[in-house]
Amino acid sequence: MSLDEHPLKLHFHGGVAIYPDDGENFKELLENASIALKEAKKEGINIIKLFNKEIEKNIRSKIIAEHLIRKALDENLFIFHYQPYFDAKTKELKGFESLVRIKDKDKIHYPNEFIDLLENSNYLDDFRKWALYEVTQKIKRWNKPISLNLSARTFKNPQLPKEINRYTQDLPQTLTLEVTERLYMDDPQVSKKIVQELKQHEKIKLSIDDFGTGYSSLSYLKDMYADILKIDISFVQSMVEDKKAKAVVEAIVTLARAMEMETVAEGVETKLQYKMLKDMGVDFIQGYYFAKPMPEEEVEKLLGLK
Ligand code: C2E
Ligand code: CA
Ligand code: CA
Repeated sequence: MSLDEHPLKLHFHGGVAIYPDDGENFKELLENASIALKEAKKEGINIIKLFNKEIEKNIRSKIIAEHLIRKALDENLFIFHYQPYFDAKTKELKGFESLVRIKDKDKIHYPNEFIDLLENSNYLDDFRKWALYEVTQKIKRWNKPISLNLSARTFKNPQLPKEINRYTQDLPQTLTLEVTERLYMDDPQVSKKIVQELKQHEKIKLSIDDFGTGYSSLSYLKDMYADILKIDISFVQSMVEDKKAKAVVEAIVTLARAMEMETVAEGVETKLQYKMLKDMGVDFIQGYYFAKPMPEEEVEKLLGLK
């Protein structure tokens, strides 16, 4: 097509809803066609999308999650459960990992229901402040190291080091920040800078979460200044039967030791897994075999504070 000799390039998007499966009346059909159109736009140009139940389910769960997050912030429903980790050799309690939940009356909502949406929402700032405050208060009260999982946007926020400094004055024990390898590798230059700044603080440690599942770019590992490598649950759970998985765990332990990093194995559920990991020289162990994530009252009992 052309207009006064100027060629015009037309792009289109389409959303289709079909009577009667996708709607019983015009209004419903139009709504669902609009939803399909939105999905088509997300996928690129010249795409026509048919409405389907999967799209509807996704959108519905997003709406529910958003409602849940807003409610949690308004009514202070975010809580942490704390999962202990132990010295592999002595079985001594060494610290806790904080794992977020939303507690709405008697119902507990787990991160898989809301963490992705939270991460991409405007509520992230409020959540980050709450999380930092909460965890640093607990480090002081319990006098134990605690780890905090950081999302990509939180980690990349240039305000983070300053904000962390504000919360970590007079910290008696370590605050460990857990970031995934993937997150770090998205932009190694920026990540390196942030980590260098964070590491100025003697009570902050950095742990690479789910290690082995990302790109595992070994050439960058030496620049990460990580203190801890966390061996992913998938290796821990398959290594008993899968020789290759076991070899990966052994390699991670050897590598960590050579680079003066510590190792934590997550998701340890059986005595055999524990024994293998201990024999391989893993430093710390975490998993249901020893302890599940627990509410703070239970931690207080465990520590003899209640
Ligand atoms: P993750 O950091 O890898 O945490 C480990 C997950 O495995 C937790 O699930 C924990 O409850 C579970 N787990 C611990 N031991 C065992 C075990 O022996 N067997 C099995 N099968 N599972 C075990 P959870 O609490 O549902 O958390 C899921 C993910 O959500 C976390 O994975 C983390 O990526 C994210 N997450 C949790 N809390 C936070 C948070 O405060 N901030 C951010 N950004 N992400 C969080
Ligand atoms: Ca973690
Ligand atoms: Ca993990």
